[in-house]
Amino acid sequence: MLTSEILKQAAKEYGADLAGVGSVERWDSAPEENDPRTIMPRAKSVVCLGFRIHRGSLRGVEEGTYFSAYTLAGFADINSVIAPVVTRRVASLLEDSGFEAASVMYHSNRFGGYNIGRAAMREDGSLKPKPDGLFNYRVAAVLCGIGEIGHSRLLLTPEFGPAQRVYFIITDAPLEPDPIIGNICDKCMKCVAECPAKALYAQKQDDVNVPGVTCIRRGAMDAAKCYVAHWGGISPFASDEVLAYSKNIIDGSETETADGKPRPTTEEIADYLSANIEYTKGAYNFTYGPAVVCAACMRSCLAHLEKRGTLRLKFSNTFR
Ligand code: SF4
Ligand code: SF4
Repeated sequence: MLTSEILKQAAKEYGADLAGVGSVERWDSAPEENDPRTIMPRAKSVVCLGFRIHRGSLRGVEEGTYFSAYTLAGFADINSVIAPVVTRRVASLLEDSGFEAASVMYHSNRFGGYNIGRAAMREDGSLKPKPDGLFNYRVAAVLCGIGEIGHSRLLLTPEFGPAQRVYFIITDAPLEPDPIIGNICDKCMKCVAECPAKALYAQKQDDVNVPGVTCIRRGAMDAAKCYVAHWGGISPFASDEVLAYSKNIIDGSETETADGKPRPTTEEIADYLSANIEYTKGAYNFTYGPAVVCAACMRSCLAHLEKRGTLRLKFSNTFR
């Protein structure tokens, strides 16, 4: 019989660094479009697979000298090569055991989540959420017992801190769930202090209450400011003109730029930056150009958790 332990052990043998299971009832209070049962009505469990981001892939970003390693080894390779293969093998193990397995991966987010498409109809005439139904990956990882969400809004695990990516399999297999874990983020606020886009708030919360399961405490964020940094707007690849454009947004408010004009939308910011920064254009880095820089919250948190001795993965030299 396929148990949770057998499945998680197999996932690690196949190449996952982390594996956890959440029972689908943990999503009982989730909005319909985020409920795994919107994708698979008879789902019983969600399996989370985690893949570490090598600390060395952040080294060049930390030094300001080499950005491709994170974009490729820490992002594209995991999303496009490692995770799909391992997720498929775990899904095959589930289906070989007689259970349906629907994979939810990074690229699922690329195809959906934009409120596009025509909603399917139920027998009673009501409409289902528009395709593609997606759940929040980081919240889902918490509900699968993999880690917690830090003030930075990043997923933190006891093994790798903020450095991993997660993928999911929704299944009708009734697997034993893992306990919810926590106590990793100590609210040191280093992520806030080191965010070059002033995107993270120290005092403003954006918690996610999951009644009867957990309350996820995370800081609020100005997503448009994060976008500026994420798309390379303050990177070494930005021209003086792009840097001025970015600074005008970063030094402004949620509604106005620093020079008193209405702030561009996130889509307009993304369009401007992708059109004006050669490095982030799609032809580079296997279309993962936009992930090329920043990760300052990840790096500061990694350094902090390492110094605190929190992480299970130990190195002979500290990150900083
Ligand atoms: S840097 Fe500190 S406050 Fe921010 S997520 Fe990490 S532990 Fe939490
Ligand atoms: S990715 Fe960069 S800009 Fe976004 S919150 Fe983290 S440190 Fe700030």
